[in-house]
Amino acid sequence: MNYDVIIIGAGPGGIYSAYELVMNNPELRVAVFETGHVLEKRKCPIDGVNIKNCINCPTCAIMNGFGGAGAFSDGKYNITNDFGGTLHEYIGRDKAIELMKYVDEINCRFGGGQTRMYSTAGSSFKKKCMQNKLTLLDASVRHLGTDINYIVLGNLYKELEDRVTFYFDTTVERIERIDDGYKVYTAVQAYTASYCIISVGRSGSKWMETVCEDLAIPTQSNRVDIGVRVEIPSVIFDHITDELYESKIVYRTEKFEDSVRTFCMNPHGIVVNENTNGIVTVNGHSFEDESRKTENTNFALLVSKHFSEPFKDSNGYGESITRLSNMLGGGVIVQRFGDLERGRRTNEKRLAKCTVIPTLAATPGDLSLVLPKRILDGIIEMIYALDRIAPGVANDDTLLYGVEVKFYNMEVRLNRNLETRHKGLFVIGDGSGVTHSLSHASASGVYVARHILNELSAVM
Ligand SMILES: Cc1cc2nc3c(=O)[nH]c(=O)nc-3n(C[C@H](O)[C@H](O)[C@H](O)COP(=O)(O)OP(=O)(O)OC[C@H]3O[C@@H](n4cnc5c(N)ncnc54)[C@H](O)[C@@H]3O)c2cc1C
Repeated sequence: MNYDVIIIGAGPGGIYSAYELVMNNPELRVAVFETGHVLEKRKCPIDGVNIKNCINCPTCAIMNGFGGAGAFSDGKYNITNDFGGTLHEYIGRDKAIELMKYVDEINCRFGGGQTRMYSTAGSSFKKKCMQNKLTLLDASVRHLGTDINYIVLGNLYKELEDRVTFYFDTTVERIERIDDGYKVYTAVQAYTASYCIISVGRSGSKWMETVCEDLAIPTQSNRVDIGVRVEIPSVIFDHITDELYESKIVYRTEKFEDSVRTFCMNPHGIVVNENTNGIVTVNGHSFEDESRKTENTNFALLVSKHFSEPFKDSNGYGESITRLSNMLGGGVIVQRFGDLERGRRTNEKRLAKCTVIPTLAATPGDLSLVLPKRILDGIIEMIYALDRIAPGVANDDTLLYGVEVKFYNMEVRLNRNLETRHKGLFVIGDGSGVTHSLSHASASGVYVARHILNELSAVM
């Protein structure tokens, strides 16, 4: 065998499994294959001046490379079983929390120590939500911020580069089962290992499907979350974000009894494009660095949809809606809430008069031509519900960017060790459909690494 363990994908799942393996057994031969670039070479060409929209680079600097999709994220590590994945269903609630805390300790040691941990515990805000038909989910969140997150990743790479063999700009095309292990094929060469950990995230979702087909690993469809990103003046939400930073608030709509939830809050942050498999959706960032803070806060409002029979392709549904917005807007569309309510498009003229200055150069348009009525109705109801706990959210000049879509990989059938039906082949992180967040993906990496370490020590 060329290696003891091959890891596919250098996102948080892959990084933390590599870290745990080599820090506990420096003799192990571990290789990480990554489609994207090394961290410092990851640069999105969109500069807002010469290049305003996604030009579909061969590998997306935002989604691929060391750090994975999380590299330029806001670096919010939520410690909770209430959202961010269903890891606890496989490994137990206490274990999941213990591993998320362990990851937090490492992040602090590698540069995140000065950042703040927020918590919903004992917050008076919980009662206020209840009084207004909203539910605040329990969590602690370490907010690294995009800048510190980048530093932590850089330090982790320095720690690992001499202990792990990294193959950047190297896509794994195929995996084959061989006697006592696995052979992974890249465009130029094949490599063998006793264990293989697949951690390809959302960007690797289509490829993951082919692996499951090739190796006859059962899967089931997952949900898709569809909605918009809301941008408001920070002052409107400061009383919430100052105390909790990231609050996950759920609202059950009166009309359809659908759940609409807030997602990924970025106080004083910016709205950004995100490219998933060639379609452009919207997301958000914020920075710890005071000089990079903006006057605006953004967060997503999402509605979950899960299709099973006869149509199973929940992600395909989300993609079609996004394609429609990309077709109409050439990328992301932005609309004033007041224009949406009046049934008219936002145009350049109306946007120019808007008191909320957009932080993303998106195309002014009409989201009602893109989002299904049921989803849009839910979002509008939720905006009015939020307005009761943070007056001003439902102002005419509140900006809505669309489409925000959270794609979830299909769920790969795994046992309690996150192992497929093939011994020694593990699937972790967002690529497994089990996790949807930095903390859960990282924790799943540590969990599998420890399992492999235990197996190896039992053999020796
Ligand atoms: C803009 C943005 C902001 C976000 N903010 C947050 C946040 O604040 N908090 C939070 O909890 N989550 C956030 N997320 C989600 C979070 O980034 C993911 O949940 C997390 O990165 C998942 O980790 P992962 O290791 O499973 O996958 P990923 O991070 O997606 O990493 C997978 C890696 O595998 C590589 N890969 C894929 N296929 C192959 C292949 N065939 N061969 C080789 N390499 C391959 C990819 O290039 C990628 O680098 C954000 C995501 C985005 C895009």
